[in-house]
Amino acid sequence: MATGKINVSVENIFPLIKKFLYSDHEIFLRELISNATDATLKLKHLTDIGETDVAYGNPVIEVKVDKEGKKLHVIDQGIGMTKDEVEKYINEVAFSGAEEFLEKYKDTAKDSGIIGHFGLGFYSAFMVANKVEIITKSYKDEQAAHWVCEGTTDFTLEDADKKERGTEIILHINEEDEEFLEENRIQELLVKYNKFMPVPIKFGTKEETLPLPEDAPEDAKPETKTVDNIINNPAPAWTKQPTDLEDEDYKNFYRELYPMQFEDPLFHIHLNVDYPFNLTGILYFPKMTQDMNIQKDKIQLYQNQVFVTDNVEGIVPEFLTMLRGVIDSPDIPLNVSRSYLQADGAVKKISSYITRKVADKLKSLFNNNREDFEQKWNDIKIVIEYGMLSEDKFYEKAQKFALYPSVDNAYYTFEELQEKIKDNQTDKDGNLVVLYASNQDEQHSYIDAAKAKGYEVLLLDSPIISHLLQKMEGEKEKISFVRVDSDQVDNLIKKDEEKVSKLSDEEKEKLKGDFERVIPKEKYTIQMEAMDSDAAPLLITQPEFMRRMKE
Ligand code: ADP
Ligand code: MG
Repeated sequence: MATGKINVSVENIFPLIKKFLYSDHEIFLRELISNATDATLKLKHLTDIGETDVAYGNPVIEVKVDKEGKKLHVIDQGIGMTKDEVEKYINEVAFSGAEEFLEKYKDTAKDSGIIGHFGLGFYSAFMVANKVEIITKSYKDEQAAHWVCEGTTDFTLEDADKKERGTEIILHINEEDEEFLEENRIQELLVKYNKFMPVPIKFGTKEETLPLPEDAPEDAKPETKTVDNIINNPAPAWTKQPTDLEDEDYKNFYRELYPMQFEDPLFHIHLNVDYPFNLTGILYFPKMTQDMNIQKDKIQLYQNQVFVTDNVEGIVPEFLTMLRGVIDSPDIPLNVSRSYLQADGAVKKISSYITRKVADKLKSLFNNNREDFEQKWNDIKIVIEYGMLSEDKFYEKAQKFALYPSVDNAYYTFEELQEKIKDNQTDKDGNLVVLYASNQDEQHSYIDAAKAKGYEVLLLDSPIISHLLQKMEGEKEKISFVRVDSDQVDNLIKKDEEKVSKLSDEEKEKLKGDFERVIPKEKYTIQMEAMDSDAAPLLITQPEFMRRMKE
């Protein structure tokens, strides 16, 4: 038996671990399962390249709760460690074996999915355990080893009689951390962090209902059988090639990600790039619904299929945080501040790549099926308009597919709109004047009056549209956007202006006089032009400044 001192430069690292990571101490399980996954994938890699001929088989990682013994076990069938390796990789704290492995096999192992160097690593176990044991047997047929440490720099290392290859980590859970002996809590953590990890993870068993045979009598009770409770899907949709997936597969994956979400997404965008950075993922445009759980159902960030966070601020441009889905990238620095993230070159590139992919997808949906795109417009416009407002690159691209709907449900692109109104709606300076309403019910008399004059009226009712219109006015000369209930509508110039009134000028003046006698002049204006139309024999409007005073 060997005893010794764990090799750390700081006198005692454990109080530090407890103190600094206290708020996040549930991540210990993610770290241990990441290590178990790495150990399994390393063995797979070595068998793949013919460096060993041990049978890889169908390895599973098992998590077991021993409530009475107050222990939590994480068991893998991976590469294992020799005694020397325990000395090296465990006792020399902050020595990442994953990094060393990747360095050694750098030509072949870059796509092996090895996680390593990911968080705090193995020692995070001491956040929840006062004593940790490792029982491990290397694939290199050597005597198994048993390491024990009680949260100080002292450890013991001796021989063990473990026969099967792989590693078992045993945590003796602290009294104050007994939540981690509750099956529900562990199940919850496994689902949160490990739901899509690449090696199957078993946590207990479950009853599975067998399908009834076709010819079963009506009152037959379905049989159940006990099967392993595998908590993860080792091959989630985003790790596959888009060409291998059907629309239905994407929808199913959406349901897998958000089990409480019953509306199908509108469409998806599959992200897949390996240069100049690595990123995969699937983003979904959700259907906007009243009961949408914006708070809870968010884009999730993964690294090599390990859940990291659903706070993607700084990584995904803000206007896209309304989307759903997954992004997975080993190139996003973790455990750094958000402001650092925003300044990081790789992260900036990732963010603009995502923006570009989203714009391209929208463009192709628009080109391929305009009718469908128009139908979806109401659900997607918030994201697009917000993006146009906040990202200039997106603005440029989006102007080709952003739609401007009229009160009569015609959908124009910006270009089509200009074409439509160019002969009919200009002001005295020759500017194109786009008329728009924001509320069809409240503004219907103004809408009707403008339509009666042959003007096109848009219905732009999203909360940020006025800011976007301002931006558009700024970007393009000779265009202005005017509310349909503003005074300016009366000053538009129409090329083919020649109206025949049903009333003579004398009759009009008389009618106007009659009204002005009963309606306070300083509060309302009697509009004459409207008398020419069939839609409104007479129009009484409130000057814009009066209305604004009330608003
Ligand atoms: P990292 O995973 O970043 O390398 P860790 O602190 O998590 O750092 O682990 C340190 C090292 O200990 C690993 O790189 C690996 O060599 C070894 N190790 C940890 N857990 C296992 C395991 N379950 N099986 C085999 N080796 C392991
Ligand atoms: Mg690790």
